[in-house]
Amino acid sequence: MSAVAKKVQGVVTGLARSGAQGFHPSYVASQAEQPLKKVLPVLSDLARRGVLEETFELICPNCGRTVARYKIGEELPLGQLVECTASVDDPPFIPTERDFIVTYAPTASYLSKILRETPDPSGVKKKPYRRSGWRRIASLLSSSPRTFTS
Ligand SMILES: [Zn+2]
Repeated sequence: MSAVAKKVQGVVTGLARSGAQGFHPSYVASQAEQPLKKVLPVLSDLARRGVLEETFELICPNCGRTVARYKIGEELPLGQLVECTASVDDPPFIPTERDFIVTYAPTASYLSKILRETPDPSGVKKKPYRRSGWRRIASLLSSSPRTFTS
């Protein structure tokens, strides 16, 4: 694995663990401190391996907000008149390739995998504490009748 791929995967794993629902390639590039053109092939490779899911977002050219999301394989409304759902004042528009941006989201199977690999550190600490506390109470209870009878 290349150094860029390692950095990108580290950023992606961190985002997935923090509960990110989706992220733009430019954000991953800035977090990994790598040029976008090197990050893009790594992200699409992760998508091919089932780590990430690629989604196309249609951006309204008038207000710049997301109008719709499309998964890989879904038909994009190229050459069709689309109404802006974000702003009622915007005129309908005919999207071109430039009105779409690609975003990535961790897949459900990838999320369950990294959550299994990350045991909850607080849970690990609590168990022995609770056990020793219970043992101390148990020893107090068992010792009190002894001090009584002696
Ligand atoms: Zn709009």
